[in-house]
Amino acid sequence: MSLLVTKFGGTSVANPERVLAVARRLVRYQEEGHRVVAVVSAMGKSTDDLVALAHEVNSSPPARELDILLSTGEIVSMSILAMAIASLGAKAQSFTGQQAGIVTTTRHNKARISHIKAVRLERALDEGNIVIVAGFQGTTRTGELTTLGRGGSDTSAVALAAALGADLCEIYSDVDGVYTADPRAVPRARKLDTVSYDEMLELAASGAGVLQMRAVEFARNFKVHLRCRSAFSDDAGTLIKEEAVEQAIVSGIAYDNSEAKVTIRGVPDTMGIAAGVFGAIAKAAINVDMIVQNISEHGFTDISFTVPGDELERLRPVLNEQVAKLGAREYLVDESITKLSLVGAGMRTNPGIAAKMFKVLSQNNINIEMISTSAIRISVIIDAEKATVAQQALHTAFDLDSEQIFQETALSKEELEAKAKKGR
Ligand code: ADP
Ligand code: ASP
Ligand code: MG
Repeated sequence: MSLLVTKFGGTSVANPERVLAVARRLVRYQEEGHRVVAVVSAMGKSTDDLVALAHEVNSSPPARELDILLSTGEIVSMSILAMAIASLGAKAQSFTGQQAGIVTTTRHNKARISHIKAVRLERALDEGNIVIVAGFQGTTRTGELTTLGRGGSDTSAVALAAALGADLCEIYSDVDGVYTADPRAVPRARKLDTVSYDEMLELAASGAGVLQMRAVEFARNFKVHLRCRSAFSDDAGTLIKEEAVEQAIVSGIAYDNSEAKVTIRGVPDTMGIAAGVFGAIAKAAINVDMIVQNISEHGFTDISFTVPGDELERLRPVLNEQVAKLGAREYLVDESITKLSLVGAGMRTNPGIAAKMFKVLSQNNINIEMISTSAIRISVIIDAEKATVAQQALHTAFDLDSEQIFQETALSKEELEAKAKKGR
């Protein structure tokens, strides 16, 4: 008998009909002889609604209280799904993160799973239940509620799969797998049958929202067999594994609208300046992604870097202090940027990919503001308005285009609009 851990995202459980469809699928898997665990996200966009509600009473809600509020979203869906399964005559029990034994670090809103005491879930499985677990949440050693960062239910599922020794972990969402680009931005995106952990990690880190990066890290570290599938079809989806069968030079393109670019202008070019600025930002626990320091002119230089857009408010006082301290002229913030990344294991052995990328962008009149690379990734910062054109041009230039155009299966107009706004 095999153990299957599944995860259903917000869209997949957005309304009672979809919850019942998930319930029928899970009962079918149990009837086929699997032990079944299902991790669920909050229904539809209810996490966004809860965040908005918090901001109506406090523009910077205390992180601890926000976690308690946000954890309710997943509790609604887990209990509703258990009820739906019961209505079909099968046995199900739902568990909060705490009840499931998910122990995390203490960082509210961005906690990491440190370990899972899964005895209670194992007992429920032994008793013949389909086990439902609230995603995205856990508790610290001292019993404080935490959440795992947006998209964190993916990580709950993979961590549970590792802890329970599952044979397979399936992440169900509204697309039938991992594509060569977000199919909503690049309609000619092609579905990949397999993708390697390393490539998926770079894609997720570069903004491909189909899987949370931490989930891929867990899967790689604990050798969890991971599959991305659609909750609305029986398509086999994409298998994420050690080495992909297709060793394409470029396997995919990802974009990320969530960063903002900061430029400190007129910085006196003396020793220790960068250490001072980035030391102060690090002390505020704000992650810096890309950094560029311009050539100095007459003893002054400009330093540009990117940070998560949602950290800007916390960053401003740090920058004000640093500008005064350094005797710099000013700082500018540009929120209208996109990070565009090309990812492919074949880059390791094929030179010239960066040059080709830059050429395609320049042929399309797209200015590159910053560049960064890893062994299997090249990222550039460009004007957000050019992001769609850039992705489509690169997709074609690197021979990724599919014959078919992506067909939407289940989402309503409102759901698609909400998705388009995601990431800002
Ligand atoms: P869920 O709410 O189920 O977790 P998400 O919205 O987090 O679903 O993730 C699925 C979405 O990820 C898709 O609707 C798609 O628009 C987006 N996406 C971004 N990049 C990719 C990609 N490379 N392949 C597939 N989907 C992608
Ligand atoms: N509900 C949470 C979110 O919207 C977690 C998740 O969906 O994975 O981010
Ligand atoms: Mg998600």
